[in-house]
Amino acid sequence: MTRPVRVLYLAGSGRSGSTLVTTVLGQYAGFFAAGELRYLWQRGEVENRPCGCGLPFRDCPVWRAVRRDVPVDRAGGIAARLRGRLRLRGVPALLRRHRRGRRAVPAHPDDAALAGLYAAVARHAGARVVVDSSKLPPYGALVGALPGVELRVLHLVRDPRATAFSWRRRRGLDGEADQRLMSRPPVWKAALLWLVWNTLTARLWAGDPGRYLRVRYEDLTADPEATLGRIAAFADAGPSAGAHAGPFTGPATVRLAPTHSVAGNPSRHRTGPVPIAADVEWRRGLSRWSYAVVTALTAPGLRRFGYPWRRGGPVAPRHEED
Ligand SMILES: [Zn+2]
Repeated sequence: MTRPVRVLYLAGSGRSGSTLVTTVLGQYAGFFAAGELRYLWQRGEVENRPCGCGLPFRDCPVWRAVRRDVPVDRAGGIAARLRGRLRLRGVPALLRRHRRGRRAVPAHPDDAALAGLYAAVARHAGARVVVDSSKLPPYGALVGALPGVELRVLHLVRDPRATAFSWRRRRGLDGEADQRLMSRPPVWKAALLWLVWNTLTARLWAGDPGRYLRVRYEDLTADPEATLGRIAAFADAGPSAGAHAGPFTGPATVRLAPTHSVAGNPSRHRTGPVPIAADVEWRRGLSRWSYAVVTALTAPGLRRFGYPWRRGGPVAPRHEED
């Protein structure tokens, strides 16, 4: 019996700093920034989009090695079936199964290939911890039930007014020169998805504090080095926990080497010295109407995660319990 693969799963809604956290964690010894692995089959294998290192996915040396151990000839089918298994309308049934103590996402013949992927990534990257920034909670539940996977969940939360604003920005899927834009949902939709995914993440994992850590984007950007160190120690609990040499050259500056992350935000291609600072453009840029819509739709979550109702109101002190 081989040792299980430790997967740090970044869960929550989009535009919450998951690309930043993944890229920085990938610089710690023993951590591999795999990116959004749920997209590996489609955007990596089928579409051959760029890896974090800049090479097309199928040409990257890390993924070339991994590809030999997974059924890449079935990638298109696996991708399509994954989309079917993770649909938003399946969330109520998923929660019912979870409450009854059953597998939240039922087993499927593809699970052997998925489990094989995580094992191959850990093996070829030589990693103790595989960082998967797929975010979607149903996929996290699926990964957590795979044989040979030991899941830790990092729940990243950000003020929903900031994420709604961020979703509206124009941005190429693989960088500035890319004509295909990342999806730009309207603010009401971004708000509802924020509420659904963050509530679901807490429901699925917050009851198990040994496997769940919640970090707000605002706390992370206020104290990046300490927060990333805390995340690394949580993900890699063991004799060396807390003794990680990270990439920080100052409390809020990192030196980034290229990662091999698949899919995700174009900022994963950034390398060299990078300052970490809160992106607060939304405070000026988000219209009053949008602010009101997002605030009304996310009200239960604002309270739960410690965000103010009024613009410029105080953010509650850090808290990780419900
Ligand atoms: Zn690569």
